[in-house]
Amino acid sequence: MEDSRSPGVIIVGAGAAGIATATRLLRNDFSNFIILEAQDRIGGRVFSKKFGNGMVDLGAQWCHGEERNIVYDLIKDYDVLKHDSSQFLPFQLQYSQTHFKGINESVNAELTELFFQIYEQAQDTVEITSMGDYFSKYYVEAVETKYHDNQSLKQFALNAEVFFLHMIASLEGTLSVYDVSTGCSYEECKGDQMLTWNGKGFQTILDVLMNKFPNPDNPLPIGDKILFEKEVENIQWRNDNKDGSVVVKCADGSVYGGQYVVVTPSVGVLKAKVDEMFTPPLPIDKRRAVEDIGFGAIMKVFLLYEERWWSDNFKGCGFVWSEEDREVLRNKGDIWIMDIFYLFILESNPNVLCFFVSHDNVPSIEQKTDEEVLSGINFLIEKFLGDKYTPTTPSEILRSKWRSNPYFRGTYSYQSLKSHTSRTLINETLAAPICDNNSKPVVLFAGEATHSVYYGTVHGAIETGFREADRLLSLIK
Ligand SMILES: Cc1cc2nc3c(=O)[nH]c(=O)nc-3n(C[C@H](O)[C@H](O)[C@H](O)COP(=O)(O)OP(=O)(O)OC[C@H]3O[C@@H](n4cnc5c(N)ncnc54)[C@H](O)[C@@H]3O)c2cc1C
Repeated sequence: MEDSRSPGVIIVGAGAAGIATATRLLRNDFSNFIILEAQDRIGGRVFSKKFGNGMVDLGAQWCHGEERNIVYDLIKDYDVLKHDSSQFLPFQLQYSQTHFKGINESVNAELTELFFQIYEQAQDTVEITSMGDYFSKYYVEAVETKYHDNQSLKQFALNAEVFFLHMIASLEGTLSVYDVSTGCSYEECKGDQMLTWNGKGFQTILDVLMNKFPNPDNPLPIGDKILFEKEVENIQWRNDNKDGSVVVKCADGSVYGGQYVVVTPSVGVLKAKVDEMFTPPLPIDKRRAVEDIGFGAIMKVFLLYEERWWSDNFKGCGFVWSEEDREVLRNKGDIWIMDIFYLFILESNPNVLCFFVSHDNVPSIEQKTDEEVLSGINFLIEKFLGDKYTPTTPSEILRSKWRSNPYFRGTYSYQSLKSHTSRTLINETLAAPICDNNSKPVVLFAGEATHSVYYGTVHGAIETGFREADRLLSLIK
């Protein structure tokens, strides 16, 4: 297909969507493109890192589902993915023995079931309200009915509501569950939602795309097409020159010309930069969609221990605070500790504990020092697990800072209450290409937020990369 006159393509960003676009082009014998990547690595929000004796994922961690999931389809023949949800579910709720008594194990399964029932109902309902309000209304109602004859279980379940709201904030990647809309278009791929990478890291999927895994001998020639530390500052897309080419300017002063641009940075980046990034400005509906789509952040903290102080059958846990303990934290100015809401163990990296942090304090927790975060976690461990174990001091800490990284500004998109104001699905507006004076698409958009049903995921991001590569191939033909 390619000849010396074939049009050039500039892909902005080497995350899952950018790599998917590039590899799809290469597999169709089109190689006249470059990728401009702001950072010094590929992968974007897929970021696997060595920590201790194994890998950890600072970004995407689980393959969500086994049916109609491109990540699953690409990797399923290589015996990599492992089932993990059985050790995670039901949620193991930990609480202070001082405040809650007479709590039996079965409450974990009952409340986990109730949580998923209401959360799934909230996603499907036509009653448009905030996810936080919807969940609280139905949860409190259900708890009052279910435990009306058991005061201590009822008190426990009512206090667990805060934990479940943190879980929703984490699943949605929001800083406020009151900003997330019910009745969203997200579709779950059927099957296990928590397939792990068996110690290899999510980054394996990029190697599969680039033909480096399982056999590294014959990779696609993508390496020299990626230019690192090239932060794109401006895309001039409606030029007066006859061939209507696009001019891309980088922060280091370099300039690149091409026929088409594929824009893949997160909507966090677009929210901050949309006005200066495009000349002329993007159409108003596109700018409004960038403004209205939801984009918040979660945080992960990994701790490495020389020796495990927890038992082999410890499955991780979620923390349920009593109102009294919350009050103490509030008075001490330490309420942020409550946002560290879940502790995971990693089967493939057994000396590491992984803490999930969600909700409105995430941006300020990112700004804290390692010592401050560690002292909060040590307090948490002592309070909730100190009566069962003798916790020791970790030898290393590693944590994500997606919110403060200017090339992400958050974790993954969600449909906010505002995104329901237009009749067109917000993700479709984000995905629509921008055309030049001759109605030819010149600026194309890929990336997780441009997927109508799989937004917020890697399989969504990859599908959008393939979608835009196919669009390019049909334009170039
Ligand atoms: C903490 C966390 C946990 C997650 N967990 C899961 C999970 O378990 N399962 C799952 O499926 N998904 C998960 N996700 C979501 C998933 O990681 C993303 O949806 C997906 O990786 C997004 O890929 P993308 O290509 O759309 O965007 P990105 O990965 O953000 O790629 C965009 C690229 O553009 C670059 N860039 C930004 N600005 C510029 C610029 N101005 N110039 C040049 N380059 C620029 C960035 O550096 C980046 O490399 C998680 C994400 C996070 C952060």
